[in-house]
Amino acid sequence: MNGNRTSIRCHCGQRIMARDVMTTGLYLKLFGPSYVYVKYRCSRCKKLGEDFVKQEEWDSGILRNVTEEVRAEEKVRYESLGPIDINEVIDFHFQLENGNTLKDLMASPPVGKKVKQKSSTDR
Ligand SMILES: [Zn+2]
Repeated sequence: MNGNRTSIRCHCGQRIMARDVMTTGLYLKLFGPSYVYVKYRCSRCKKLGEDFVKQEEWDSGILRNVTEEVRAEEKVRYESLGPIDINEVIDFHFQLENGNTLKDLMASPPVGKKVKQKSSTDR
């Protein structure tokens, strides 16, 4: 519930983030709480470490805290990419259309315009 206790720290005191986590495993127990096994490499002292966290604490605290810090970066990235991607598709679509019509006008005019030109010259 409260995220005070639910952080993994290296022996040197560095907080372990999602990027430091190498492997996680779930230890299910028939009796008592299940534990999440976390193997990490400290980003400060570069030492390997491992920790066991209660699954309920992992679910409610650590995982959320750690992933949110990763997701925050990715979220911004994706949020900026998302709408741009749609606009880019639309822009690209219009660019293709404009490019095609421009090219058609410049290089070889469509058949319909030739007919129009002929009919206009006749009159
Ligand atoms: Zn460390």
